[in-house]
Amino acid sequence: MAISIWEQTTYFAPKDLVIVGCGFVGLWTAYEAIQKNPKLNITILERGVLPSGASTRNAGFSCFGSISELMYDIKLMGEAAMLETVKMRYDGLQRIQKVFKAKEIDYNQWGGYELFEGKKSNKNTKASKTNKGASSELSELYDISKLETDIAYLNKILAPALKTPKKNGKYLPIYTNASKDINKLGFQGIEALAFNQMEGQLNSAKLVLALQKAVQAKGVQILFSTEVKKFKSHKKGVTITTNLDAPIEAKQFLICTNGFAKQIIPGLDVVPARGQVFVTEPIKNLKFKGCFHFDEGYYYFRNLGNRLLLGGARNADFKNEKTYSLDTSGTIQKVLEDFMMQRILPKGSRKPKIELRWSGTMGIGSIKKPIIEQVQPNVYCAVRMSGMGVAIAPIVAQKALKLMKG
Ligand SMILES: Cc1cc2nc3c(=O)[nH]c(=O)nc-3n(C[C@H](O)[C@H](O)[C@H](O)COP(=O)(O)OP(=O)(O)OC[C@H]3O[C@@H](n4cnc5c(N)ncnc54)[C@H](O)[C@@H]3O)c2cc1C
Repeated sequence: MAISIWEQTTYFAPKDLVIVGCGFVGLWTAYEAIQKNPKLNITILERGVLPSGASTRNAGFSCFGSISELMYDIKLMGEAAMLETVKMRYDGLQRIQKVFKAKEIDYNQWGGYELFEGKKSNKNTKASKTNKGASSELSELYDISKLETDIAYLNKILAPALKTPKKNGKYLPIYTNASKDINKLGFQGIEALAFNQMEGQLNSAKLVLALQKAVQAKGVQILFSTEVKKFKSHKKGVTITTNLDAPIEAKQFLICTNGFAKQIIPGLDVVPARGQVFVTEPIKNLKFKGCFHFDEGYYYFRNLGNRLLLGGARNADFKNEKTYSLDTSGTIQKVLEDFMMQRILPKGSRKPKIELRWSGTMGIGSIKKPIIEQVQPNVYCAVRMSGMGVAIAPIVAQKALKLMKG
């Protein structure tokens, strides 16, 4: 379709900033930019009819790291890098709550838990040992005899770094041992439980829609079904070529395509990682409320009203989950169903009907830090959110804007 003179001088007229990707990072960047400078002329390009990566397809955990995952991250990238990333996530969660009312995004601070199984149970459920993943993906069996020491250590280093709330002059502990609650919550084969009172849960599509509404109200244009094919930087800015017969000129161009980044910036340390999820029918007397992590965050579940939302198990088939496909696979869905029956629901429970299954695409790499950098003159990227993009996106956006300098 050739464009008209009217379209050329409006929709496709030169912009100050073009962002590709209408997920959390693209939207938060537009949000923060327009707050700072309401005169900016910003367009977001999104190839899906909806955002089609991870932001509306995730589990809605407002989380910043479980104990086994953070201890593994220290081994992977050192304590300082772990603290820096966790601080970005924690600050991001504060930003979300400052900008949006809890009611608007269904935010509930019911806390987050981590479940630990012992060596005996682990033999039956752990699949990661037989599946090679990238270095940031290799999980190990957490040694639960270290739990108390790790809780004390993480509280000691994280609370002052994150500046968590204080009571009587002392930082409130982030993690506590909650193993006494295992039976009350009805889990099977779980030997220890840790609680993080600072985590919550939300409706991620409501957050995306709230951001969309906020930026559009300030004049940001969002073009859906518009796929960036390539870009060329030049002295005055960037020419962006899309599937439409209308190149767009921008002074600056920011790539926020996360797991898909390599499709337009080859050579970047980002690979797609599919995450699969399901939601059950309502379960009578569901015994828990909150967000739950297991096996360094590879498995995650939460209540959605009185239904169970369960996802993960990518470490049961690393190779095939490194894909851009948004299908679900029988292998992972079966592992998740077994996990539901063998660990989450009380022994002897009737298997609930699965009402909805879906998947989304994460962006991961050799370490769990986002990439926020200049790619070419006037071209920047903010990608590779790993598994906790809900939380980290607002701060990634602020850092990307700082890099672009006005
Ligand atoms: C199943 C699953 C569960 C998760 N659970 C959680 C959770 O509970 N809590 C949490 O914090 N995080 C979770 N995550 C991670 C989180 O959702 C992501 O880190 C976050 O959404 C990434 O946001 P983003 O904006 O960087 O990327 P995305 O949301 O993926 O947005 C990128 C956008 O770019 C678009 N795009 C790509 N290429 C092009 C192109 N060439 N032209 C135009 N548009 C393009 C895509 O369609 C997409 O909409 C989960 C992820 C998955 C997949």
